[in-house]
Amino acid sequence: MRQDPRGRLTLAFVKASPEAQLRLLELADLDAELNRLAHRRRTLPELAELSQLDERAAKVRDAITIADTNLADLDRELARAEKDVEQVRVRIDRDNKKLDAGSVSNARELESLQSEVTSLRRRQSDLEEVVLDLMERREAAQTLRDGADGEATAVGADVAAVTARRDASLTEIGEAEAKAAGARGGVVRGMPADLLTLYDKVRAQSGGLGAAPLRRGQCLGCRVQLSTVALNEIRAAAPDEVLRCEERRRILIRPPDSGL
Ligand SMILES: [Zn+2]
Repeated sequence: MRQDPRGRLTLAFVKASPEAQLRLLELADLDAELNRLAHRRRTLPELAELSQLDERAAKVRDAITIADTNLADLDRELARAEKDVEQVRVRIDRDNKKLDAGSVSNARELESLQSEVTSLRRRQSDLEEVVLDLMERREAAQTLRDGADGEATAVGADVAAVTARRDASLTEIGEAEAKAAGARGGVVRGMPADLLTLYDKVRAQSGGLGAAPLRRGQCLGCRVQLSTVALNEIRAAAPDEVLRCEERRRILIRPPDSGL
């Protein structure tokens, strides 16, 4: 290939019949369709939705872990407080039995026993307050846990619904891709290998579009008006010359309606 200054036409080494060159336009249409499908596959809205749902599910799992830890802590505290209440109750019973039995006759001993019962009753009342408070906190913790459970169920249902939508879209895209790939195979069959190699190389270098038609002096791939010099060279070029556009080096096809 000649390295021409900008504004001049470049001829490729490859030569191909005008018919083979025209088929490159069909190929370019199918490749554009395949590119669109691949882009759609990568940018399905369901993918973003699923990633948001993943974040939500992780938060819910954290909330459940925290709530479970909280509940276990409260259960332990509650068991301890209930045991304390029971111990105090047992001591009060024992003291009351002694008092009822009338076995304590010494006045000082009696007074001390009565004062112990009074202070134990106060202690029992305080401990029962603690138990009630813990029970209320446990109820609140259980409500949070139940809420997290409900949220987990809701997220699971959303994930299932969005996954089903994503899979339906992927199936649809896969079918369209298979159709375009089949058509591509038909277009490529029997085309000269060197022309296809050039097309693939150009396609890789020029943003996915390997060939474009010339129409009214414009490369429809780049939407760029060709220079008069280039257009004159195109008019002079043999039909089997494979032309390249000035702008992005795309293969420039001269269809019968190019308006040259
Ligand atoms: Zn161009």
